[in-house]
Amino acid sequence: MAKIINVIKGTKDILPQDVGEWHRLEQTALDVFSKYGYREIRTPIFEATELFARGVGDTTDIVNKEMYTFEKSDRSLTLRPENTAGVVRSFIENGMSRLSAPVKLWYKGPMFRYERPQAGRQRQFHQVGVEMFGIKEPAADAEVILLAINYLKALGLNDLEVELNSLGCPNCREKYKAKIKEVLKPEFNNLCEDCQTRYDKNPLRLLDCKVESCQKIFEKPEIKNVIFSDFLCEECAEHYSKLKSYLDKTNVKYVENKLLVRGLDYYNRTVFEIKSNDLGSQNAVCGGGRYDSLVRNLGGEDTPAIGWAMGMERLNALLPEVKPEKLDGFIVSNSPVEAFALAQELREKGKSVEMDLSNKKFTKQLEKASKVAKFALILGDDEISENTVSVKNLETSEQNKYSRSEVAMFI
Ligand code: ATP
Ligand code: MG
Repeated sequence: MAKIINVIKGTKDILPQDVGEWHRLEQTALDVFSKYGYREIRTPIFEATELFARGVGDTTDIVNKEMYTFEKSDRSLTLRPENTAGVVRSFIENGMSRLSAPVKLWYKGPMFRYERPQAGRQRQFHQVGVEMFGIKEPAADAEVILLAINYLKALGLNDLEVELNSLGCPNCREKYKAKIKEVLKPEFNNLCEDCQTRYDKNPLRLLDCKVESCQKIFEKPEIKNVIFSDFLCEECAEHYSKLKSYLDKTNVKYVENKLLVRGLDYYNRTVFEIKSNDLGSQNAVCGGGRYDSLVRNLGGEDTPAIGWAMGMERLNALLPEVKPEKLDGFIVSNSPVEAFALAQELREKGKSVEMDLSNKKFTKQLEKASKVAKFALILGDDEISENTVSVKNLETSEQNKYSRSEVAMFI
């Protein structure tokens, strides 16, 4: 026998018995997002590498360590590690800034990151996400967060925690960064290797370091005081407090987390995550925030924007199992040609119908029908000569005969 070829590490098949939950995630997304005025956008799975280097940021783990990059005809291409950059590229390229604001877009699909595979972490995984362009007011931030919560609620997921923070604008954040660097300077040699790199490139990212020895350093009072200081400028503070009043008014429960800085470089002001305690260590289902400078950085007009992405595998792990639907009917007959024609008639009338394709015995066909269908459609010699079908309800065992033209109404 030939050698078996296996699925690549960190990727997974979604098998027919599991696809029901995926349909539910996708259908609910379409239903809920449409109510908020979002329209779906589908962008390519690979883009120019430069889009992510500039869009996601070249100080991020995603760009530095996790991208699937390849060359083709002298161009460097990358499988998308996230979809905000692609959506922004399309927004700019298709002149969507001319549309009246807000422009609301959503997407779903596979993303690719070269990470260490573990529970809740794959190399090909799926995200569903939204992006809203053109509104700088905090009402947009609040609406986008509420949309995430309502989507999760529509999926039956209520037991989730929203974490919120504001990263300020380049003005106030630069001062904050400088202060953080100043207080951490005496500790530089005690920081982990990653944090030593971040210290120069992106000191805010230090704060979400998971290494225990770094966490201990941040706990020191003189350092903690700076991390937890109110650094927001007047405008950013007002934006943040208005956002909170929208959330309070709509009874959204959230916890403020000063250490929430998010992994991508492009965020400013609002950042948030939604977590589930039922997920173990990879517990974030949703991450998002405001990215007012990204459209301009990628060559478009100055356009404020905000969005989030959810990991569909992690959502899936929280969903109850969706049982597959049974067929409307399974045809049981010793006359395969007649059965074939009946199946086709009923499918054209919108019914889901199958029949035996391999000349199995009548009793075997009936057994199969009771496993896969709501009704057995019995087409014996009598039925064929009378132009009827006997319909057996496989739950109640009740059986009735109907004329062939009417049978679709009873199944
Ligand atoms: P994490 O902290 O879990 O690595 P992240 O900050 O890298 O998340 P984002 O880039 O904000 O995540 O993506 C949004 C969501 O996508 C995450 O909250 C998570 O649910 C999901 N996600 C991210 N990376 C993966 C992965 N490798 N496998 C499965 N899901 C993922
Ligand atoms: Mg990550």
